[in-house]
Amino acid sequence: MTTILFVEDEAPIRDLVRFALSRAGMEMIDAGDGREAERRLGERRPDLILLDWMLPDESGIDLLRRLRRDEALRDIPVIMLTALAEEEQKVRGLEAGADDYVTKPFSPPELVARIKAVLRRATGADEEGRLRLGELELDPSRHEVKWQGTPLSLGPTEYRLLRFLMSHPGRVYSRGQLLDYVWPDDDVREERTVDVCIRRLRKALEPCDAGHLIRTVRGAGYRLDRPDA
Ligand code: CA
Repeated sequence: MTTILFVEDEAPIRDLVRFALSRAGMEMIDAGDGREAERRLGERRPDLILLDWMLPDESGIDLLRRLRRDEALRDIPVIMLTALAEEEQKVRGLEAGADDYVTKPFSPPELVARIKAVLRRATGADEEGRLRLGELELDPSRHEVKWQGTPLSLGPTEYRLLRFLMSHPGRVYSRGQLLDYVWPDDDVREERTVDVCIRRLRKALEPCDAGHLIRTVRGAGYRLDRPDA
């Protein structure tokens, strides 16, 4: 399920957005200020952060700048909420690394549409949320992976790992990061778990001539390459 972290101190707005997101099949976790947001981010990695500019202690833009300096969090897409339709705020937000901004007051359906658009852009997914890698297609709504239209049988962990890698092609992830993102509920953190799962996934993808696309980056971790890269 797609998870959105919403950083906003006003509870009625949080409730409004939670309702709109749940209708769109997304889950919302929330935080009332920057410190709480960082705690939430330590617990779980959201697919996108919705960040209000006006927060009680530090402003949303300061939090955004910190996120963009954080190696582990910098690639999570961020949409800023701005209270004023002022050009200067929009420019500052985008310069600080926001992927988009929405002006308050907003209509919930419009906000959901913007979230979906930013997620599509970030992951390369199509309108229905399907991810593609050459002739390999992953459909999150059906929990299905197909190669040239034929379903592949993957274990649940291999599926989660493949989904994460296909959403972030071309980026290197360390074993620790992959443990955080793909095995968030595991108490036992063994890097070997990642290696074993990568091996199984490569094997499952071998018949599709895609196993080699999962590269081992010496001393760093793993990276999924696009077939044409
Ligand atoms: Ca606020």
